[in-house]
Amino acid sequence: MLTSMKSILDNAKKGRYGVAYFNATDLHMIKAYINAAETLQAPIIIGTSEGLLKQYGDFEWLAPLLVQAARIACIPVAIHLDHTYNESTIMRAIDYGFGSVMFDGSRLSYKENKKRSKALVEYAHSQKVAVELGLGCVGGLSDENGTVDRVRHTDPDIAEEFVHETECDFLAVSIGTVHGDYKSEPDLKLDLLQTLKNRIPCPLVLHGGSGLSDDAFKNVVCSGISKVNIYTDIIHAGTEALLDRQSKNYADCLLSAEKSMCEAAMKKIKVLGGANKASNEQQ
Ligand SMILES: [Zn+2]
Repeated sequence: MLTSMKSILDNAKKGRYGVAYFNATDLHMIKAYINAAETLQAPIIIGTSEGLLKQYGDFEWLAPLLVQAARIACIPVAIHLDHTYNESTIMRAIDYGFGSVMFDGSRLSYKENKKRSKALVEYAHSQKVAVELGLGCVGGLSDENGTVDRVRHTDPDIAEEFVHETECDFLAVSIGTVHGDYKSEPDLKLDLLQTLKNRIPCPLVLHGGSGLSDDAFKNVVCSGISKVNIYTDIIHAGTEALLDRQSKNYADCLLSAEKSMCEAAMKKIKVLGGANKASNEQQ
């Protein structure tokens, strides 16, 4: 059933467990995630991002697929728009029925980020859509010119003011994770996360969840993270299945990739503590 990310994450924060967010660019990824969550009776958040849409898909067909898959699922599914830099893309997502959106102002000055974020939250709330904002920079993504974002940890003083003034519903924090593959062991600042949790009233989000150990997942949830974004590990699982192809049939190869991505997603849902939490959402 189609549910809002706000409801899913408010319950996760209360119940102190984590919910996985997975990006999708096609039907097999969507099926893999929903199948994983249904098997584990877990709430789940799926969606796509502006960058992925540019590279792999188009809103015209991907948005209805996501929304319809959520509607017919047996567990709560929220549809979310990840990293978006342009308000026009966010408006389209709202029109397509996404329940939440992320505006990424990390490439803007603080003043500009706050101004645009505030206006966006006001509009989104008038449409009953929740907004995730970020402060600091997780790093690892690149802009249209190929410049890779550098890591900047979230400053608790600025974060508190930012959340208060923008009235956002969720805050993505930068505490040592990076988007994509890690070149060395991630250095997670759990003390900083604890401080942020104590000072920020809304649910906290962690990006760059691929490549983290099971212990790291448990620690970040324990220290205050309610949602973890995972993409790269799922892509690896699907790619391995395709390279290891057991069949010469195109459709069967895709099914084996789907199965492998489903298994990878189940591992993440379980380690975050989301299994058997589907019944926490109102039926
Ligand atoms: Zn991210």
